[in-house]
Amino acid sequence: MDLIAARATKIVATLGPASSSAEMLARMIRAGVDVVRLNFSHGTAQDHLARGQMVREAAAACEREVAIMADLQGPKIRVGKFADGKVELQPGQPFILDASCELGDDGKVGLDYPDLPRDVRAGDILLLNDGLIRLRVVRVSGTEIHTEVVVGGELSNNKGINRQGGGLTAPALTAKDMEDLRTAVQMGVDYIAISFPKNRTDMEMARQLVAVAAGSGPRPQLIAKIERAEAIAVLEEIIDASDGIMVARGDLAVEVGAAAVPALQKRMIQMARSRNRTVITATQMMESMITNAMPTRAEVSDVANAVLDGTDAVMLSAETAVGRYPVETIETMASICIEAEKSQHSALDKDFLDQTFLRVDQSIACAALFTAHHMRCKAICALTHSGSTTLWMSRHDSATPIYALTSRLATQRKVALYRNVRTLQLEDVGDRDAALLAAEKLLVEKGVASLGDLIVFTVGEPMGSPGGTNTLKIVRVGQKG
Ligand code: PGA
Ligand code: MN
Repeated sequence: MDLIAARATKIVATLGPASSSAEMLARMIRAGVDVVRLNFSHGTAQDHLARGQMVREAAAACEREVAIMADLQGPKIRVGKFADGKVELQPGQPFILDASCELGDDGKVGLDYPDLPRDVRAGDILLLNDGLIRLRVVRVSGTEIHTEVVVGGELSNNKGINRQGGGLTAPALTAKDMEDLRTAVQMGVDYIAISFPKNRTDMEMARQLVAVAAGSGPRPQLIAKIERAEAIAVLEEIIDASDGIMVARGDLAVEVGAAAVPALQKRMIQMARSRNRTVITATQMMESMITNAMPTRAEVSDVANAVLDGTDAVMLSAETAVGRYPVETIETMASICIEAEKSQHSALDKDFLDQTFLRVDQSIACAALFTAHHMRCKAICALTHSGSTTLWMSRHDSATPIYALTSRLATQRKVALYRNVRTLQLEDVGDRDAALLAAEKLLVEKGVASLGDLIVFTVGEPMGSPGGTNTLKIVRVGQKG
């Protein structure tokens, strides 16, 4: 098995100036990127379309199926611009936020969210620039929020604002997001990440917009970025309304305090998996590799711990978007994942003790997992249309690799995010026995299994109907019957 197939945890990498050439992208994909994240906070629709096209071409050149995730900007509240590009704020000084201010100076700055004065009151703490700068609200008068600087520092154009404890009411989908969502659907992305959802209604709204934009075409999966204090209180309902979540540690840490994040990360990962959803752990995982060729010990531990927590994927942001070492960062991250996975032990027996499965396809999926584990099978192979069989399987820790065999490119790309799931293209042949034989041949050809190995197959009858998996077959490679 090659190094990419050997790894169960997936890698999401953000595209940016450091990684926007076809050549660099191909190197990153060969180094192990499974999902490419396009940050819709930067660039025009034309830019996104061109980048999406470039990702598809690079993936094809590398003969790998890579998913594309469009990450919408969301209602990130930002200060306006300064006459000099930036100012230096001193502790104790007064500072005013005012949406009607055009160009800021060291006493005042504009805002891109005119309703902010309605959402804050005296005593609130506002955190700017990822929490590096703290302002205490003294009073609100008309459009002006008067504050006193608690912790100062350099503040430059368009830095973000959060309120400690959360509670800002801006809706999750801005007019720009709705436009971007349509662009994303039009480009055929596989995932759309929604920023700052605060409840399930935000996710349901996004899903409706996707349905309208997609018509009868394929619908991207929806990832809820958990980065607001309010979202934590209604985590279950947001997870249920989404296909997956992102532990968006950057904004989340500002809202709930950085110290609360590690425990929340564990809770979110567990909760997402137990509700049959995917989960991405994001932000600052390999931060020092933006400028250094090696990560810190703490970063290595962070990535390894996310793997042990059970995350589907670990994510790179600035490291691959603007960093000096995109390829090395991906290679280093991949090796940390592989090493951490070795120490993970499967508790499949216990996993299933108190569980009952009411769906036929889910029962078959879990039975396949259990059987493969006990019979020491080489691989579990799901002949799948939608990929859902492999999603059920991948919600449990198992050392047996799972393969999604499908003719559908969209499914191959979707499962690129699922932990422990690999994919191979299997042409539709219609007849079940012929399909199983073709699958066996393909697995041998690709070096997944060899003569005498045991493989567990799952398949549905009639073939090709979504959610129709109803059969489990154990095959010894090369043996008839
Ligand atoms: P962002 O989201 O990078 O789009 O802000 C991730 C985070 O907040 O951690
Ligand atoms: Mn964020």
